[in-house]
Amino acid sequence: MATLRARLTVAYGFALVGSLIVFASALIIARNARGTEELVRELGPLTLGQGDRVLENLRTAVGLGESLTVQRPCGERPEVRCVSATKAMIDLLERVPGYFLVYDRDDRQIYSSIGIRQLPLADRTAIAETAVRLVPDGNALLVSVSDTLFRARLLLAARRDTALLPNITRVVAGVPTSIGELSPSVLVGTMLIVFPLIVLASIAVSYFIAGRAIEPVERIINEVEAITDGRSLHRRLPSDLGNEELSRLGATLNAMIGRLETSFGGLRRFTADASHELKTPLTVLRADVERAMHPNAAGSEAMQALEEALQETARMSDLVDSLLTLARADEGRFDLHREPVALGPLVRDVFETAVILGEHAGLMVSLSVLEESMVDGEARRLRQLFLNLITNAIKYTPRGGKVELSLSHRVGGEVAFTVRDTGIGISAADLAHVFDRFWRADRARSRGSERSGFGLGLSISQWIAQAHSGRVTAQSRLGRGSVFTVTLPMLAFVDPVRREP
Ligand code: ADP
Repeated sequence: MATLRARLTVAYGFALVGSLIVFASALIIARNARGTEELVRELGPLTLGQGDRVLENLRTAVGLGESLTVQRPCGERPEVRCVSATKAMIDLLERVPGYFLVYDRDDRQIYSSIGIRQLPLADRTAIAETAVRLVPDGNALLVSVSDTLFRARLLLAARRDTALLPNITRVVAGVPTSIGELSPSVLVGTMLIVFPLIVLASIAVSYFIAGRAIEPVERIINEVEAITDGRSLHRRLPSDLGNEELSRLGATLNAMIGRLETSFGGLRRFTADASHELKTPLTVLRADVERAMHPNAAGSEAMQALEEALQETARMSDLVDSLLTLARADEGRFDLHREPVALGPLVRDVFETAVILGEHAGLMVSLSVLEESMVDGEARRLRQLFLNLITNAIKYTPRGGKVELSLSHRVGGEVAFTVRDTGIGISAADLAHVFDRFWRADRARSRGSERSGFGLGLSISQWIAQAHSGRVTAQSRLGRGSVFTVTLPMLAFVDPVRREP
């Protein structure tokens, strides 16, 4: 695959060659369309000048007493006499360059210049025919010349000098049009030499310019390659990349790398935490099994070890369940089986469970408000969410404390399920992390104690609430207790009568 730079250069090269071809064609067409009048206007003075040069030579010779013409009998009758040029005149005119003819009183040609004599007969005839029609100091006329070497037309004009009369009446001089215009072959030849040079120079310049324009892109590619090797996600592209578009691209890439960094970090933490959480129960499990299998272990001791092993297995199974739930949620594979759910009966049901759990923990559990409401969701998941919050409240509230539940309507068609406890509370700094996976306020001490958890309960709760288009929020003060609130969009109002349990 060609580089962008090469492609730009080739495209530019083609565009340039196309433009030059169009330009050259236009030039040739314009040249051919050049009017005769324009040529006559341009070359007329030159032609007359040529005639005058010949006349001046002849005049000077006459002034010096040279005899230029003689009269000889011509034809059958002796009294008919024709004028012809003397040797002196011929010698004189042979030295004058250019194209010209000299005519006598009977309009007969008495001399033609070397230039004209070298032309083919057809051209000479054509010139003679046109010359006969020319009046001294009158119009100039163009004659086409077929000679391939001549490669032009001839502009003819006639001149006269009274000093040479009566025998020499006219001099017809000609100037090739090639003086005033470029011949097609010269034009094409020039183009063939100059155009490739222009094209080559332009391609070199465009290659250089394209390279400069693309240089920031190359820089971005190198930087992104270096960043995305996985270990350098903390690095960012420079903010100024030379122009607006590339700077915007850089900013977009930086935002993407930032998100990648966050999710890579999260993934790494998650894997490390999950492995750590699994490693501990596995070690305990192994120790328990070894203890039970020990040949010296008494029956009761072996039984106790196996009971502990069973507990650890249950813990691991809980952890794996939670991980699976979160993994499926992340993948978006966890479809809720939504249906209208009446929250009143559901909350009453979890309240009954909470009362039993509370009794065990020496706590007073109450349901202060219960406003019937319907939501669109999955009852099993909502129950799991409410129980998560209730078990937390019971777990983190010391004996003698209180846990209060409520279900009440909120403005904006929402319903809130609240769990309020008078427990140990969470510090303001920790509150921001309670929904993070594997986060526990007191990691070291929570394991093994009756409060042991994995720090996944609230993450799962938040996910369940969000999957129901709702949210979980937490308020807490260290040592005073916490309030966890689940807010869900309501489907309809059902029996909106406050009921005190
Ligand atoms: P865990 O299984 O550890 O309870 P959660 O995700 O449910 O995991 O809770 C995360 C952490 O938030 C807990 O370890 C605890 O430190 C804190 N927490 C949750 N609920 C409460 C509460 N009601 N009172 C005090 N701390 C709480």
